[in-house]
Amino acid sequence: MILSHREQGEKHIRLHHTKLLHVNYLAAKMRGNSIVSCKTMIDTHAHMNEIGKIEQTIQRAKGVGVNRIVAVGMDIDSNRATLSLARQFPEIIYPAIGYHPWSITLEGIEDNLTFIEKNLSSCIALGEVGLDYKTRMKKNIQWEVFFRILLIVKNSGRPVIVHSRFSHKRTHQMVREAGVEKAVFHWYSGPLDILDNIIEDGYFISATPALAYSLPHQTAIKRAPLERILIETDAPVEYQGKVSEPADLVITLREVSRLKGLEPDEVKRITTANAKKFFTI
Ligand SMILES: [Zn+2]
Repeated sequence: MILSHREQGEKHIRLHHTKLLHVNYLAAKMRGNSIVSCKTMIDTHAHMNEIGKIEQTIQRAKGVGVNRIVAVGMDIDSNRATLSLARQFPEIIYPAIGYHPWSITLEGIEDNLTFIEKNLSSCIALGEVGLDYKTRMKKNIQWEVFFRILLIVKNSGRPVIVHSRFSHKRTHQMVREAGVEKAVFHWYSGPLDILDNIIEDGYFISATPALAYSLPHQTAIKRAPLERILIETDAPVEYQGKVSEPADLVITLREVSRLKGLEPDEVKRITTANAKKFFTI
């Protein structure tokens, strides 16, 4: 086909215009990843092995924009189940394995730690682990287990998801002394001076739907910079009598937005970027 000079000129302008549009789009995308990440959210802590009707649960989560879920384990059985769910839903469920202070038994320690070491390579993080002074297991046993887990964390270079209940000072101290680089103090509701130290050390805290009613949790989330906050549900934990699921991440988002006085889209964009960076996903 032979084009007239004018037609050739018009074609050139059209091509040039299309190229420019594309360049502008790429530049905008590179500027903040915001175009992509503001549409989706990551539930950074859920016990997926304890949730029934998993497919419907995932569909409801996706329906409100929760496209990724970090599933945590507490002992060998739940760790196994978590790993198996992650294989079943590889684009959505990202596994973490752990040994929760509620799950510790004297006879179970060696097997649980061995399981974690053996399966760590299939996980994005270690958790849920930590210290809980309201549980029956003696403090010195919890310290020993947590210390050994933190060594595994340190050697693996992976992030750790930390449970601390009436044990905030010690938990933070142990994480720091182990030289762990990435830690999230999940559902933080502890003293503010320790929170300040956690933030100074470069660690994160996470927010749950309990923000709707828990004053200590609200106080902590108000104080922490948004750049150090991850959002989660801890599903299927019951909040005010209602069993939660990952779709309830919208409640956490709403409450963080309210406390920070920011638009939900802004909170979504920043916390999603935080989670991607923290877990390298
Ligand atoms: Zn949990």
